Amino acid sequence: MNKQIKFLLPESEIPQTWYNIAADLHQAPPPVLHPGTHQPITHADLAPLFPEAIIAQEVSMERNIAIPEPVREIYKQWRPSPLFRARRLERALDTPARIYYKYEGVSPAGSHKPNSAIAQAYYNKAEGVKLLVTETGAGQWGSSLAMACNFFGLDCKIFMVRVSYNQKPYRRALMETFGATVSASPSHETAVGCAMLAKDPDSTGSLGMAISEAVEVAAQNPDAKYALGSVLNHVLLHQTVIGQEALKQMEMAGDTADVIVACTGGGSNFAGIAFPFLGQVLRGERTGLRVVAVEPSACPSLTRGHYAYDYGDTAHLTPLTKMHTLGSTFVPPGFHAGGLRYHGMAPLVSQVVAEGLAEATTVSQLESFAAGVQFARAEGIVPAPEANHAVAGAIREALRCKEEGISRSILVNVSGHGHFDMQAYTDFMAGKLSNYDYPAEEIAMALAGLPQF
Ligand SMILES: *Cc1c(COP(=O)(O)O)cnc(C)c1O
Repeated sequence: MNKQIKFLLPESEIPQTWYNIAADLHQAPPPVLHPGTHQPITHADLAPLFPEAIIAQEVSMERNIAIPEPVREIYKQWRPSPLFRARRLERALDTPARIYYKYEGVSPAGSHKPNSAIAQAYYNKAEGVKLLVTETGAGQWGSSLAMACNFFGLDCKIFMVRVSYNQKPYRRALMETFGATVSASPSHETAVGCAMLAKDPDSTGSLGMAISEAVEVAAQNPDAKYALGSVLNHVLLHQTVIGQEALKQMEMAGDTADVIVACTGGGSNFAGIAFPFLGQVLRGERTGLRVVAVEPSACPSLTRGHYAYDYGDTAHLTPLTKMHTLGSTFVPPGFHAGGLRYHGMAPLVSQVVAEGLAEATTVSQLESFAAGVQFARAEGIVPAPEANHAVAGAIREALRCKEEGISRSILVNVSGHGHFDMQAYTDFMAGKLSNYDYPAEEIAMALAGLPQF
């Protein structure tokens, strides 16, 4: 019997193209609408915020989009990422399941996010942009974009959700080490930030607010553009290097994935691992694949939100997209998986779930950390709190295999490491963490504010 643990690809096997699922979906994605006019968004609406190449990718219906050589060169710093067979976890769970994990914690910034940050910095630099402005929740996107901007000689300005800014000083230090400027959001540097602080001086912030601040700054400076770390089609596109590599690595392992599990904040690491596999399903090349999106019960957009048009930010500066949403006024509680605290979901992930190609489930904070600790003790890798949700989902699937006496193959995306999140683990082990299920009334209230037209 093959006892191999790691399935490694050579640098030459870094994908040459990104995979665009829009080309294979049976229904065209719903149009994106202008926040003011509610008419389909035009190129001119997006041009102040994004470079041409990114706008083109956002609406592309081409199946495969070439990865520029300078981007592939930088990907070599950590790609291809390893695929592991979690044999020690399988033993600890005493399950007949075959568990594989794709480990994205090997990137310099420690998560999957540089896969898109590098591409975005490249295209902005190529079109003469001087400054990229963005927001960050837990800090992974901020550190990734800071690193990418540094590689391409761009300035980088980051609005960091205040609760994370206070909880994660080392993430901030990492961004500053890469040369970025970091402000706690809401801040007094923007009109929308001032308005938010006037309403609530103690606001802990949210991704929705930080996006509003970043968009405001980028839109007002002709040398600046805006970058988003998840949700948008082009970000999901860039992440598909994960799944394309995993397809080859599963082949090396002599196996096929029966179940794919990933956590969902804005949907990019989920799309990254799942879309290349779903492409095979959509093209009729395979059947019998279950894909599971795991979200926190404290921010349950896919499982308890509406599939409706909504804004991407709190101040309603961004376009309207059809997505699973809890309402743009939803301020998630300050739980530890900061990267999963977003009111909406990527439109393409929403569509895939709405069409029944993938299912969604929730995991509580305590179940997610218990799973993360079990994974760490078995595999020696401490996952990011966000990734713990995926690990918890995979453990549930593995235990189901044990109950049913069936050996399925489970592929889970471990989207990042938790080395900057050890305070969360400390709190968990000290019994200081609790579960928080968002009250139905509060969700109903935020949803009542959804735009009507
Ligand atoms: C940002 C982040 C997430 C959530 O974002 P997605 O776009 O849903 O992938 C998950 N895991 C890690 C490690 C992250 O940094």
